[in-house]
Amino acid sequence: MQLFSDMLSYFPTPLEDELLYSVLARYACDRSFKTSHAQRSILLGRPSLFITYDLPRRINYLTSILPPGCSHTADGFINLNTMFPFYSASLAPERVIAARQSMREEITRSTHRTWIKQFSSERISFLRYCPICFQEDVERHGFAFWHRSHHFPALDICTIHQVWLEDSEVSIRATKQEFVAAEAAIPMVCDARPLDLTDRDVAALLTLAKDAVWVLHKENLYIGAQIIRERYFNLLQVEESEFSKGVKWYYRNRPTLYDSYGEVVFDKLGLKLGNPPGRDWLRWLSEFERSASHQSLSTIIHLLILRFLGLSPANFSD
Ligand SMILES: [Zn+2]
Repeated sequence: MQLFSDMLSYFPTPLEDELLYSVLARYACDRSFKTSHAQRSILLGRPSLFITYDLPRRINYLTSILPPGCSHTADGFINLNTMFPFYSASLAPERVIAARQSMREEITRSTHRTWIKQFSSERISFLRYCPICFQEDVERHGFAFWHRSHHFPALDICTIHQVWLEDSEVSIRATKQEFVAAEAAIPMVCDARPLDLTDRDVAALLTLAKDAVWVLHKENLYIGAQIIRERYFNLLQVEESEFSKGVKWYYRNRPTLYDSYGEVVFDKLGLKLGNPPGRDWLRWLSEFERSASHQSLSTIIHLLILRFLGLSPANFSD
């Protein structure tokens, strides 16, 4: 039970595709908190706690200080205003439940992040924006905001406008300390840089980004590592007992994932030939459910493999 004095005076309405971090940054901006310490003290209830822009925690605390009449729930925020649906899509169901619980409650440890987040922290250095979304948001809402779909690991494309995303002045390191609203962080909007879709690598990246958006918008998509694996094997018509024969057959008859996508796409995604999934993608598939370290890469790698097999994530999850 929170004291009345802890309650927020109002709460901004979260917009479609808006990160919860962005909603709280808009509140902090309106309230003109003097220090980042004060922001965290009021919005997280713990001034010493780091902020996590994409997979926030202590969401139950936030819902407990919402003003009367606000009907937001922790699960609603997690599904609609965090990157959780994307990262959790390929986790085992029991891990999804535990990760969701840690976002609601967790104070000191970030178990869910160690499972699903290692990859992205290396691939995003700054909060990003699309110059055209920025202008449209200002015209439509009177302000800009941080979009969820602009913060996939490695994929720096706005799929709506088919332009490259731009880095803001807010480093990911800075987001741990402070809520910074998009408008305060983007004093000068860059010119939009359209994608050159005649470039095969760029076209492949756009397809991946669109698939990532599809996954992000699909609540509770996760189907578990074992089922994912079985579906792949059914698709490949490889009996589990004949796995090694199947690997040999596919090595002879199919290009590798690396040959199919090429160096540019692999570099962009931070994948290396020789590391999973590179040449060993089929073996990686057979082993990933046992390997926690690979699970942190898994959603994007699954999307790569699906398109390689001529499928979309919608075909696969049906
Ligand atoms: Zn855009």
